[in-house]
Amino acid sequence: MAFFINVILPLPLENLFTYSVTEAEANFLRPGMRVAVPFGKSKIYTGIVSEVHQNDPKIYEAKPIEQILDETPVVTEAQLKFWSWIAAYYMCTEGEVLRAAIPSAFLLESETIVQLLKEAEVNEENLSDDEFLLFEALQRQSSLKINEIVQLLDKKTVLPVINSLVEKRVVAVNQEIYEQYKPKIERHVKLHDNYSNEAAMHQLLDELSRAPKQREVIFTLFGMSAKNKGVVKISELAKESKASAAVIKALIDKQVLEEIKVQASRFEYEEGELAGKVAFNEHQQQALDEIETSFKTEDVCLLHGITSSGKTEIYVDLIEKVISSGKQVLYLLPEIALTTQLIVRLQNYFGEKVLVFHSKYSVNERVEVYQNVLRNTEKARVIIGVRSSIFLPFKELGLIIVDEEHESTFKQYDPAPRYNARDLAVVLGKMMKSKVLLGSATPALESYFNADHSKYALVNLDRRYGNMLLPEIKIVDIKDKHRKKRMTGHFSDRLLEEIRETLSNGEQVILFQNRRGFSPILECNTCGHSPQCPNCDVSLTYHSHNNQLRCHYCGYHMALQTKCMACGSIELSTKGFGTEQVETELKALFPGNKIGRMDLDTTRGKHGYEKIISAFEEEEIDVLVGTQMLTKGLDFRNVRLVGIMNADTLLNFPDFRAHERSFQLMLQVAGRAGRTKKRGLVLIQTYNPHHQIVQQVSTNNYHDMYREQLEERRNYKYPPFYRLIRITLKGRDFSRVNEGADWLATSLKNSFHENVLGPEFPPIARIRNEYYKNILIKIPQKQSLGKTKELVSRILQSFKAIGAYRGVKTVINVDPY
Ligand code: ADP
Ligand code: ZN
Ligand code: ZN
Repeated sequence: MAFFINVILPLPLENLFTYSVTEAEANFLRPGMRVAVPFGKSKIYTGIVSEVHQNDPKIYEAKPIEQILDETPVVTEAQLKFWSWIAAYYMCTEGEVLRAAIPSAFLLESETIVQLLKEAEVNEENLSDDEFLLFEALQRQSSLKINEIVQLLDKKTVLPVINSLVEKRVVAVNQEIYEQYKPKIERHVKLHDNYSNEAAMHQLLDELSRAPKQREVIFTLFGMSAKNKGVVKISELAKESKASAAVIKALIDKQVLEEIKVQASRFEYEEGELAGKVAFNEHQQQALDEIETSFKTEDVCLLHGITSSGKTEIYVDLIEKVISSGKQVLYLLPEIALTTQLIVRLQNYFGEKVLVFHSKYSVNERVEVYQNVLRNTEKARVIIGVRSSIFLPFKELGLIIVDEEHESTFKQYDPAPRYNARDLAVVLGKMMKSKVLLGSATPALESYFNADHSKYALVNLDRRYGNMLLPEIKIVDIKDKHRKKRMTGHFSDRLLEEIRETLSNGEQVILFQNRRGFSPILECNTCGHSPQCPNCDVSLTYHSHNNQLRCHYCGYHMALQTKCMACGSIELSTKGFGTEQVETELKALFPGNKIGRMDLDTTRGKHGYEKIISAFEEEEIDVLVGTQMLTKGLDFRNVRLVGIMNADTLLNFPDFRAHERSFQLMLQVAGRAGRTKKRGLVLIQTYNPHHQIVQQVSTNNYHDMYREQLEERRNYKYPPFYRLIRITLKGRDFSRVNEGADWLATSLKNSFHENVLGPEFPPIARIRNEYYKNILIKIPQKQSLGKTKELVSRILQSFKAIGAYRGVKTVINVDPY
């Protein structure tokens, strides 16, 4: 009797590979365990057993495995089932899903690089002989490949040694430089212990008589500290005493004040209140009741709650109930970096029971989270994470929350699997019999459509917490303002006026411009030439702070040219504008105020986001200029005014979703204004004041937007009425890509006729010297999705078999938008 196993390898292979095992191995092995197997000429990979069986593959001779790596499965049966669903739906291989789904530290292979963990604390007595040998070798050599370790230890089976060292936190594999998530630190001060006695205090006040500002700070501190046990926030102290940061710093330097860094809770209750349950208002209570009632009969519920309506508090209550019934909760977020506010809030409620899963976590941290979820530990009750956390090995999932469910970052574009985590949440929920709650102030059209057609339950929450009004939204016609010469740079007189007033009241301003850099295009007034990226079909963007022209697609950059490169003219002008230009203009207009900027360029560094968000929260920044990063669920207390610099660049984006997205973006950024105290104001500058989307934003009319966009989707055959599959061809040879695309489109049209669009060059047809061409397949509701995909795969296979097109790669994207 011969025994075999099927193995999923982390490679884009169409078929699973079969290996032979001994009877003893077959009895021991279970699906979900890792095995090391040979593949290709001399490579070793780690794969996951998907099945143990007795069917000889016949076409090839099954090779024996190298060894078994686990005693118990690291992948659950439920995950294996989920993976094969994903591979079939998104038209990719299970190997590709595997790569996305488990930490790369689990997937040692011959090319894997092993390094000492920097912060390793090694107890040499705990190491086996082999482990010690490797540990020693790594002190001499900074990194070793698995192949080299095989030679070093003079044995074939080295993976268990490495695995064990990973678990003992001695080494790291494939370590990349990851930024770690750090909770926000708040700066506080108290009086230095030197001055705890009265005599010292009197002497101090005497000394300070020549520094009245510093003295004032000390007096203010006395007044404030009565109710704060002597410790006060620096920002509050500065505000109360009207002292600058420099004055307070001087006192710290003199050791009159002592600085204390406090790990801040961003969610501060009124004094005395613990992070216990909050009292809901009647609207929240009703929404909660409706959600719970819907879950008795439905699996998915969409919570349509306006910005600042208190959705998070509702989530907290639901989470509480689910975890107290012993089940796990997955809380999906669009981006962790921008939502530290929310993480701290949840940690305040659930403390140790919260795990955060971050794509930027180091490999070892990800292993730790994965293991905790797999073992269903006490820590793994609530898992907060970005899209990839949908792949964690949940045991008893009771609830999945998808917060800001409309966000496009739930979709993975590259590499495969090109999944949408919001949609997968619904699938996973079904498989694990877990409820799913989608929440948004501006639901994706598809989600609302599903709710509208009774596929999901729908719950509305249309009051802001604390009865704050939604901000007033006003449109400013900048075509008219230009005509009447009422523009200063990119600011209308109205916007300037409101900024001035807001700042003079000590309140803050957010300005939104969805482009970074100074200006997207530098153009010659004489011949019209504008500098292009040599590798991509885009104009270079001008960045003023370093006087560079940069490509936002490949990173190519060059120094700013003083003369036109085509005709030599020195008359160059800029067209369009980005965040940097807004910032520059503002600094000139408001020299006395602090201006901050938040975009990809300013948030790159370590804790880049954190610094800017904190500074804004602490009111060290008066005006924050930024791109769409500003829209993601941030909760600022003192923002009265939000200005949208130019709505038109959003609206004119060439994509069937552009209008829906513009609506979502504008309403979300508007939602940052007036969350406490006073009603907020939003000014939208636009050349098209009558555009229906601008109108719908200004009246906060989601339903009109929904109905109108839905009509367009119906007319032009887009989701939710038609499903889409996009095939992208790319390659370095322009004519091959072109010819290949024509061949493929023709074959597809033979089967799908008028429902094939293209081939068409995308707006940017060349990136990093590769040419791109798209074909779009539209699938009507009554057409079988499974059969369509089968046919598409078959046509693609014929395509790949044609020698002339060998250099042309194809990328399939199911639900591409
Ligand atoms: P959303 O997620 O809908 O934008 P949040 O949950 O962030 O809204 O709530 C907005 C603000 O209102 C937050 O600052 C939150 O602390 C506060 N809030 C909401 N509900 C309550 C409540 N029941 N009691 C006290 N504060 C609340
Ligand atoms: Zn020129
Ligand atoms: Zn480029």
